[in-house]
Amino acid sequence: MEDILKTVRLGKTELMVTEVGFGGIPIIPLKKDEAVSVVKHCFELGIRFFDTARMYRDSEEKIGAALKGMRNEVIIATKTSERNAKEASEHIDISLQRLRTDWIDIYQLHNVSNDETLKQILAPGGAYEALYNARTDGKIRFIGISSHSISAAVKALDTGLFQTLQFPFNFIEHDPADELFPLARQLDVGLIGMKPLGGGLLARADLCFGFLQQHPYVVPIPGMCSKKEADEIVEYYHTPRTLSETDFKEMDAIRTELGEKFCHRCEYCMPCEQGVIIPPVLIFNGFAKRFSPKIATTWMEKAMKSVEKCIECGECEEKCPYQLAITDLLKENLALYNEYLRIKQVM
Ligand code: SF4
Ligand code: SF4
Repeated sequence: MEDILKTVRLGKTELMVTEVGFGGIPIIPLKKDEAVSVVKHCFELGIRFFDTARMYRDSEEKIGAALKGMRNEVIIATKTSERNAKEASEHIDISLQRLRTDWIDIYQLHNVSNDETLKQILAPGGAYEALYNARTDGKIRFIGISSHSISAAVKALDTGLFQTLQFPFNFIEHDPADELFPLARQLDVGLIGMKPLGGGLLARADLCFGFLQQHPYVVPIPGMCSKKEADEIVEYYHTPRTLSETDFKEMDAIRTELGEKFCHRCEYCMPCEQGVIIPPVLIFNGFAKRFSPKIATTWMEKAMKSVEKCIECGECEEKCPYQLAITDLLKENLALYNEYLRIKQVM
């Protein structure tokens, strides 16, 4: 099929990527041949930008198998959550092997969402060092960062060390368009938009992509777990939507409805002295919509178990810039998790 998606220049990397990319999380629960066929289908639809991460289980392996023989036609990005050079360097080698390639176009430091983590990765012996050396050795072409915190991302960009930034962006999480993205564009840092559908919480894909198409300098990487889903998403790009007054009103209504419950994963509430791992618990409802009870409960087990340690001191709520009722949301999500556990047992 002819490549009919437009391409976008990804900042100073000068990489030209398709206006919509592929996010590697939702293929995790698929069987390997099924995942390979979805990724291949995305390639046939014209998608040439594929993003994944070391922590997405066998996602790299599935993408590597699907794109075998097409390496020169695609841009591949992946990430490591390791914070030290030794482990990050090992991750780069594993990524190369799993993705069946001699080079990775963009290697990102995953979820750098607070000052402490940023300091750690940039310190001597930190993960950045491994990426820098891998770039010198030709294993990776560009160094990127992913984050959920505007202030941490601003600090990271100010170092001048990163060529791309991956950040959540959708019509609920639109704040980065005001401060962070203008800075990134001024520094010519390529922008990759994660969570274009709000991590599974936003059902109106038409509005989501209509919103994103107003910001064509951010390349979204929606997760696609079936050929049908990929067809639908690519179709939004073949026939871009002009948002109407009614659309804007509907987005406002959804924003208001979700606003009191929507965790932006910025981690300002962390750490909790009792050891509650707050952000993953608060996004469990969106996660549960996308994955089977078996996957959802297995992945979230550690975070959900940590809720038992909550003594309802309220400190996290004081730190949350979105004034979320965190203790109530912890309970709500725990109840949903327990329900999923029950369903898993009878499956
Ligand atoms: S609960 Fe609030 S502070 Fe914590 S990650 Fe979510 S939005 Fe950020
Ligand atoms: S209310 Fe619970 S989760 Fe929040 S800081 Fe206190 S113990 Fe931790």
